[in-house]
Amino acid sequence: MGEARKYMSGTHAALMSLCRGFCYWPGCEEPVTRFVDGEHILNLEIAHIRAVSSGGKRFDPGLSLDEKNAFSNLLLCKARHARVDCHGSRQYTVELLEAWKEQRESEETAALRGLTEERLRELVSESFALFQDETREALEELTRIALEAAATLQVLEVVP
Ligand SMILES: [Zn+2]
Repeated sequence: MGEARKYMSGTHAALMSLCRGFCYWPGCEEPVTRFVDGEHILNLEIAHIRAVSSGGKRFDPGLSLDEKNAFSNLLLCKARHARVDCHGSRQYTVELLEAWKEQRESEETAALRGLTEERLRELVSESFALFQDETREALEELTRIALEAAATLQVLEVVP
């Protein structure tokens, strides 16, 4: 279950850029992040256009797990995510959700919001850079801990 929802690195970042700042539900103004108790939190959830598990909504057995967890999804606010995935939500078809996605990510919408294709590309690569920074920091931290562990083991004379 936990593994099924593992997203490829950068999926969140890409969706956060592609959604242009708010929930994919047409007309919903719920922002992608909120400032809560002094920190920025991710305010939207990844909504699968095609469910990961066979019991889920719009399940497509022909798709690999990676494909289901990739960019081809939506970011929705909690309320709209629940509505799209709730019992008896047959009207929210793959075609409809893909149309929402296409509409939001289209050039036309971008132009209306002053976003060019080039600027969007920049935003996505900035987001990726951010992820890479975080990964590098984590690796540096790991290296530091490993060195300390090595030093400790030497002090304890566990290793020569
Ligand atoms: Zn929404």
